[in-house]
Amino acid sequence: MSSMKKIKSLHVEDMDVVVEPGVGWIELNEYLKPHGLFFPLDPGPGATIGGMCATRCSGSLAVRYGTMRDNVINLQAVLPDGDVVKTGSRARKSAAGYDLTRLIIGSEGTLGVITEVTLRLQKLPSHSVVAMCNFQTVKDAADVAIATMHSGIQVSRVELLDEVQIRAINMANGKSLPEVPTLMFEFIGTEAYALEQTLLVQKIAAEHHGSDFIFVEEPNAKEELWKIRKEALWAGFAMKPDHEAMITV
Ligand SMILES: Cc1cc2nc3c(=O)[nH]c(=O)nc-3n(C[C@H](O)[C@H](O)[C@H](O)COP(=O)(O)OP(=O)(O)OC[C@H]3O[C@@H](n4cnc5c(N)ncnc54)[C@H](O)[C@@H]3O)c2cc1C
Repeated sequence: MSSMKKIKSLHVEDMDVVVEPGVGWIELNEYLKPHGLFFPLDPGPGATIGGMCATRCSGSLAVRYGTMRDNVINLQAVLPDGDVVKTGSRARKSAAGYDLTRLIIGSEGTLGVITEVTLRLQKLPSHSVVAMCNFQTVKDAADVAIATMHSGIQVSRVELLDEVQIRAINMANGKSLPEVPTLMFEFIGTEAYALEQTLLVQKIAAEHHGSDFIFVEEPNAKEELWKIRKEALWAGFAMKPDHEAMITV
């Protein structure tokens, strides 16, 4: 499907886009940026919309925006007998008949070949804050993630790196991060709202033995901090150079 790379139509007002399956999520987001919109799924860097539908992928923003299942409005597929089906319309409020969209999403190519996808888009946030905090145990870190969700704060990303993963990152990048369970967060919204959420989570983390809570707002600093998570897979190879990675979700 790699030759089917057309972005067929963008509907800015309705916040949706119709694409062919070979379009990558990174190139789609480059196209959408000038319109103030983005597609909130960020799995592997080379992933395409067709493959992402077929694997029902998620990404680091799933906590806020859900997985592929929640972000596809409808799709077109060619069935094994050659029939072409469209699973729905662009209308969001549409519930007639079987939910064929969600049947095909995650079917790994076994039910048909996806040839066109309509995706739900989101508004690019005006401001974001990236934060990181260390914990004595994975349980403390998990308790903070749970307490944060229960407090009603809508984090856009929360990711756990355990002590082994941090050791791999130190080995791969010559860093000296404390080799303990670590949580990474991203908060989005207006400048004041993103900061308010950050400070509330800082307080929750302190109540669960969290230490060294840091947060950054400047774009380069945010990218630098988030790179730790983004390069986690490749850091794993530094620890086991003679091994291959098996990607799971
Ligand atoms: C560094 C890294 C990080 C990742 N992080 C995440 C993550 O956070 N969350 C997550 O869920 N996944 C993650 N993944 C896995 C990634 O989501 C999947 O690899 C991706 O969804 C597959 O997209 P692809 O275009 O590479 O598909 P491919 O690998 O090309 O195909 C995947 C499957 O879909 C089928 N397929 C492809 N296109 C179509 C089509 N048009 N119609 C029907 N079937 C089709 C293929 O036959 C195959 O069975 C990560 C991968 C990497 C390498």
